[in-house]
Amino acid sequence: MISEKPRVRFAPSPTGYLHVGGLRTALYNYLFAKKNNGTFVLRIEDTDRNRFVEGAIENLIESLKWCGLNFDEGPGTENKFGPYLQSERLQIYKKYAIELIEKKYAYYCFCSTERLEKLKEEQQKLKLPQAKYDKHCLNLSADEINANLENNLPHVIRLNVPLNQKVNFKDIVRGDVEFDTSNIDDQVLIKSDGFPTYHMANVVDDHLMQITHVIRGEEWLSSTPKHILLYDFLGWEKPIFAHLPLLLNSDRSKLSKRQGDVAVEDYRKKGYLKGALINFVALLGWNAGDDVEIYNIESLIEKFSLERVNKAGAVFDMDKLNWLNAEHLRMKSDSELLQLLRDEILKSEFNTLTLPDEYLIAIIRVMKERVSFIREFIDKCTYFYKVPVVYEEASVQKNWKEETPAYMNKLAEKFAGLVNPQKEDFETALTEVATELNIGKGKLIHPLRLAVSGVSTGAGMFDLLFILGKEEVLKRINSAILNIKQTT
Ligand code: GLU
Repeated sequence: MISEKPRVRFAPSPTGYLHVGGLRTALYNYLFAKKNNGTFVLRIEDTDRNRFVEGAIENLIESLKWCGLNFDEGPGTENKFGPYLQSERLQIYKKYAIELIEKKYAYYCFCSTERLEKLKEEQQKLKLPQAKYDKHCLNLSADEINANLENNLPHVIRLNVPLNQKVNFKDIVRGDVEFDTSNIDDQVLIKSDGFPTYHMANVVDDHLMQITHVIRGEEWLSSTPKHILLYDFLGWEKPIFAHLPLLLNSDRSKLSKRQGDVAVEDYRKKGYLKGALINFVALLGWNAGDDVEIYNIESLIEKFSLERVNKAGAVFDMDKLNWLNAEHLRMKSDSELLQLLRDEILKSEFNTLTLPDEYLIAIIRVMKERVSFIREFIDKCTYFYKVPVVYEEASVQKNWKEETPAYMNKLAEKFAGLVNPQKEDFETALTEVATELNIGKGKLIHPLRLAVSGVSTGAGMFDLLFILGKEEVLKRINSAILNIKQTT
């Protein structure tokens, strides 16, 4: 437990959807905040107008809410440190950029795109490791600058990165990190459209919003030295940093859309339970140091610590996600599953059926151990929702012999005599018929399953009969006798 109440933030740029990597960042921030009685802030970093996507913010908030990661502060909440949309804070960034210019830690740059392009080309010819601005405008006189500004010459504001210095910081995940300023470009802080860049807005807001811990993906590690310089230049206390490991495909390449789904929404649409997705994402780069793999949000809050986040890239293993989904599904109560199944039925071809709760709960009970997704309570046992019209060919070949229709007739007769039969009554009746016919029970069970379900595997035979009920079973036996072609 850390002493001060931490304030952490999830600071996505709204691209149109919540990436699973973003979900992992949001989750770790959330867990850290909840564990330490802190505050979880959602800040929208929407300063790149070229990447503006209509509805992206709403979509992002919706995905976070679906996952149960409710923020304490953010768009739409009480405005303590707000606004929480960077596009509504432009004057604030401008003010600090001017302060940096006054202190000579930043400067106006009026270089044209052509000049910058040429510079880049020259540097590429010289095979320099990276293109860097040559500080040309740092040498402009005050008069030149004023004249340019008065003439409304397009300009940016750049960070004046000192040469040949070391920037050090401690990262909770990566330990001591050091960068040489010679490799850092004079980063643009305010663009020619007056909008801040990510670096400027991010540091100003983390400071003003009193963020104590910056927990974000490893791809931002190389930006951190620029941020450290900004904190120092502005005379601000730095937050504690924790950079989370990269997410990898199973071939250890960086997780990409090309190899599978990356949006939380996609997983939601595919029927993953939010508890399973959260559990899975939590384990992408963190473990509690034991063998426990199944967590709910409460146990994650209890166990989570940044100190146990790994440095090594975390592989996104779909088999594990599927396994966790099945585990989480089984942890749900019958009534929770009933609600989820009803939602699923509404989306299916069976949405016009009126099915009583008891009927669906009976299906849930017999299928629970055999499914990994809610929709499989339908797809894996459609025979509970419709009369079979086709019969599995292999099973017909194997189990439906010349004598089978006669056996089935006998069974039907026996079943017809049962009054309000339970599962066991069907079983006893079948055993009796087998004895009367002097045959093994298998000669009845396999064709009977085929007759009532159309397939050869699925829910336990007598459960199946009980759930369908006597009348339905009789109907199905009779139609199978008529419809299944005998094999010789
Ligand atoms: N806006 C950045 C993003 O899209 C935030 C990075 C950070 O957390 O500093 O991920």
